Amino acid sequence: MPIATVNPANGETLRTFDELGADGIERCLATAASAFRRYRTTDLPERARLMSRAADLLEEDQDAIARTMTTEMGKPLAAARAEAAKCVKAMRWYAGHAEILLADEFPSETEVKDSGAAHARVRYRPLGVVLAVMPWNFPLWQVTRFAAPALMAGNVGLLKHASNVPQTALYLEDLFRRAGYPEGCFQTLLVGSRAVEGILRDPRVAAATLTGSEPAGRSVAAIAGDEIKKTVLELGGSDPYVVLPSADLDRAVSTAVTARVQNNGQSCIAAKRFIVHTRVYDDFAERFTARMAALTVGDPMADTTDVGPLASEQGRADLEELVDDAVRRGATVLCGGSRPEGLERGWFYEPTVLAGITPGMRIHREEAFGPVATLYRVGGLDEAVELANDTPFGLSSNVWTRDREEQERFARDIEAGGVFFNGMTASHPALPFGGVKRSGYGRELAGHGIREFCNVTTVWHGADPDAS
Ligand code: NAP
Repeated sequence: MPIATVNPANGETLRTFDELGADGIERCLATAASAFRRYRTTDLPERARLMSRAADLLEEDQDAIARTMTTEMGKPLAAARAEAAKCVKAMRWYAGHAEILLADEFPSETEVKDSGAAHARVRYRPLGVVLAVMPWNFPLWQVTRFAAPALMAGNVGLLKHASNVPQTALYLEDLFRRAGYPEGCFQTLLVGSRAVEGILRDPRVAAATLTGSEPAGRSVAAIAGDEIKKTVLELGGSDPYVVLPSADLDRAVSTAVTARVQNNGQSCIAAKRFIVHTRVYDDFAERFTARMAALTVGDPMADTTDVGPLASEQGRADLEELVDDAVRRGATVLCGGSRPEGLERGWFYEPTVLAGITPGMRIHREEAFGPVATLYRVGGLDEAVELANDTPFGLSSNVWTRDREEQERFARDIEAGGVFFNGMTASHPALPFGGVKRSGYGRELAGHGIREFCNVTTVWHGADPDAS
């Protein structure tokens, strides 16, 4: 895939970039390794000062970087601005909390004695150079939620961003440089995915994190496994959105629309499978479909647009194939199901609702990465739980019920990294984020995220037999 900015709203190639060659990669690796040797010894107040400065600069740049993101991958401009603001918040959160999250831990006195020590503690030390392979869908946020904790922990970062968001990728390197980070602490490598193996196998790289598709995750995990290097994987999702009879249906319907079409439907944690109790199914289906059909599709720079284009022509083709397969196998199209008229130049697709989904359809098992919802009717709680879990993915889940026992049942039985009751899944700096099953492993955000790339070190002092 060429490294280029191609506007998905009209297919125009705006800028192309040369890929970094072997010499350039070698220079970046050497710079990163040397930066880590010094940066690892900085104290937390200094790291917090740098991170806070990066947050301030990003806040100033909010409008400009939002426009760049919208131009590169097509998200509505308001959503791009909100994404930048969310990154500022996460940077400030880690700047303010890292010292507590990484504070030494002390076992009880009895446990220390039992281990034969005079003193013992656990210390969180950085791992080293971490390679981040990142996707285009939240081009600023996905990187920030790696970079903020990783840099606060004393690691340094190498970013291999998706090939269609090079300007956002270069902006991030520039942001950290302007914030005053020493040279090499955060570098963007303009390389294609084929270069990842060589970089990951380099002994100067300690670990990797990848957010993206299952094939990319499998490849990076296999290479890292071969090299015995730590990885975190944030992969795809097909989150269930369960609506039970006690739900506040007005809110469940309006939130369902946002949860499905946010980011033009290209979010790993978007609600994708709508599992609705038969007692409220007809009402939900009618209202949800009417709202999906009423969304405005068009220019992502316009304030009136709800849904912009898909980020790539291939992404739209993949989505069309999933819908066509379902329709061929008997699914009913309640709205959408094709390209909107009058928007032929960009990679647009209509907000779509499909009903009558059966397990033989590809869309039942695969992730629909675009504004396409699938509707399922269930007769009771057991069936809802079973269907919610009937997916290779396990990222998050949404459940609408006011019944405490039903909530407890989902909190106990859902096979996912999150369960959100009476609301939609969203990430927050203080809450861990990540999945199980084919959605990956490891966690980002909160204390869990900052410790993923730490060397959890036991520091043990033997008792002095001469001491009284
Ligand atoms: P993708 O094709 O896997 O690309 C993601 C990144 O991986 C890009 O930088 C890409 O580089 C690189 N890449 C692709 N194949 C690779 C390989 N074999 N080895 C090494 N690197 C490789 O995914 P995408 O289409 O950009 O993103 C959509 C997917 O990401 C969806 O499945 C979505 O659910 C998932 N996602 C998950 C989360 C989460 O937190 N769980 C968040 C956002 C997105 P190139 O661009 O150069 O190909």
